[in-house]
Amino acid sequence: MYSINQVAKIIHDFWATAPSNSLRLESGEKAWAEPQVAIARGDDPLFLRNKEMIGPFLWTPAEAYALNFPDAPVPAAKLRVISYVLPQTPATRLDQCQESSMPSERWARSRYYGEEFNCELRLHLAEALSSAGYPSVAPERLPGFGYQQSARFGLASNWSERHAAFVAGHGTFSLSDGMITRWGKAVRFGSVVSCIDLPVTERTYGDDHQAWCLWYARGTCGICAKRCPVAAITTGEGHDKQACFNYIRNSTTPYVRQNYGTGATPCGLCQSKIPCEAQVPPVLL
Ligand code: SF4
Ligand code: SF4
Repeated sequence: MYSINQVAKIIHDFWATAPSNSLRLESGEKAWAEPQVAIARGDDPLFLRNKEMIGPFLWTPAEAYALNFPDAPVPAAKLRVISYVLPQTPATRLDQCQESSMPSERWARSRYYGEEFNCELRLHLAEALSSAGYPSVAPERLPGFGYQQSARFGLASNWSERHAAFVAGHGTFSLSDGMITRWGKAVRFGSVVSCIDLPVTERTYGDDHQAWCLWYARGTCGICAKRCPVAAITTGEGHDKQACFNYIRNSTTPYVRQNYGTGATPCGLCQSKIPCEAQVPPVLL
């Protein structure tokens, strides 16, 4: 039986050796700092709670698994969600901290090339585990992955890497909607659902989905709101997804295409130059 260390090694080795883990700069630097791994039970009640909150279109781990293995579904209790964090590198964070209206070049490159690597990593992990005898699927890579309107939350995907990360104990949501993990908010996520018996990571914040944000926990901070150039974050209303979407679509996306030659939809100013950029605010731990 594979241990969590063996699973983490698959992720780590790919991160260390895949040529695609690159910002494609002359320096040759990697797109991401060292990955971090956590495990959730497939039948954790929080997956159903998330579905109730977001909408019936949100897949549970068992639903995502069954889409890939329609002839061999397994009970949710036999599944594990392997969630990983890819932290931004210190150089990328430093660059992003200098910016106030458009994403830095390194940030744009990590969003574009780094996410291409992340897609490869999801598939590599699922294939490596499946080959070792643990049937696995990367939900975000399924053909049916997509976005729908949630009555409560607007546009939402049918598999949420951030919600999987929350259930797995990586971190909690925040005023800006971003996840604050032990490696901060300047991160991206990936996950795989696997039929494997792995020990589950302790969720030190329990079920409190905003425990690691100073605004929700203490009524202080709000610095991410000041970082947003279009006031899409307010301490009264939280994150205005539509205002954020409009700014990214109309301003940052054409800017990075023209100036850096990258695609995707980067911004992330609210993920840098903040107390939770690269850590959980220490007073909350
Ligand atoms: S900057 Fe402050 S208010 Fe914003 S998410 Fe981080 S801790 Fe919360
Ligand atoms: S990602 Fe959205 S909320 Fe964050 S700074 Fe950019 S526009 Fe504002």
